[in-house]
Amino acid sequence: MQCDKCGEDAVMHAAYSGLHLCESHFRRSVESRVRRRIRDDALISDTATGENPETWLIGLSGGKDSVVLTHLLHETFAADPRIELVALTIHEGIEGYRDASLDACLELTDDLDIDHEVVSYADEYDVEMDSVAEDDPLGMAPCAYCGVFRRDALSRYAEEYGADKLLTGHNLDDEAQTAMMNLLSGDVRQVAKHFDASLGSFNHREVDDDPFVPRAKPLRDIPEKEVALYAHLAALPVHMAECPHSSEAYRGEIQEHLYELEDGHPGTRHSIMSGYEELARLAAEAYRGDENAPRGECDRCGAPTNNEVCRKCELVDAVGGELP
Ligand code: SF4
Ligand code: ZN
Repeated sequence: MQCDKCGEDAVMHAAYSGLHLCESHFRRSVESRVRRRIRDDALISDTATGENPETWLIGLSGGKDSVVLTHLLHETFAADPRIELVALTIHEGIEGYRDASLDACLELTDDLDIDHEVVSYADEYDVEMDSVAEDDPLGMAPCAYCGVFRRDALSRYAEEYGADKLLTGHNLDDEAQTAMMNLLSGDVRQVAKHFDASLGSFNHREVDDDPFVPRAKPLRDIPEKEVALYAHLAALPVHMAECPHSSEAYRGEIQEHLYELEDGHPGTRHSIMSGYEELARLAAEAYRGDENAPRGECDRCGAPTNNEVCRKCELVDAVGGELP
């Protein structure tokens, strides 16, 4: 097959667009979709200047998604005085797995000359995921603890660091899976959160006292396979191994269904996301000022919650950890 743009040998075929692309046109296409997303989500505030730059904190795990994100942000903004990039890696305490991926992070941030910070569950909660997975006091999948700790560690660090945005490497498949999981759970409040937390809705927010650093997902239009192909073609240092505690069975099931749907009906993931975003916007509007929205603060850590203690503090307690 030949590239539809130049006639060179194609390295990929995107069924959803019908395009065959050669290496160079494929790479350009990924780069321009990511830059368009950054523009459309209005990631760069009007107030960012060379004298008053914005700090963007990148969640860097060493896997393909966050490595591609870091690489593309560096390509786009290294020479832009309005933006300062910093990478943050969370060390969960998973023997063998996280140390190797930390090496990939160090190699990348060294290469790109980006500041790199590491935060560990051991320092933050006095726990390691290996023992959490073994003890499993609440009989949940390890990822159910780990996801709560990671979200908390990322946003707390972003806040402490004074970051203006928190950027993560979620790709189109991740986002479509989460959308389906939220829809199937029937939890519309969770759908609304998608708008508030991650839609790049910074400019039309009505909640100025939002306690969270705004989040953004610049890869959210790029299918997972294209992120992997990009990382491979650009020879980026990616850590490929899977976490030994990886256990998101339900997400895996949804992923299988989505593969099948996408095979039979190319473009399904894109249309799920455009419908979901509109739904999230409408739901967020409908819930504004709703008295059932979390308004209280966690007694221990101050995080917003309707209960006495937030979910994170509950889990830290359950696994015998401690907040600093
Ligand atoms: Fe944590 Fe699960 Fe990811 Fe492993 S796969 S790092 S346990 S969230
Ligand atoms: Zn708490």
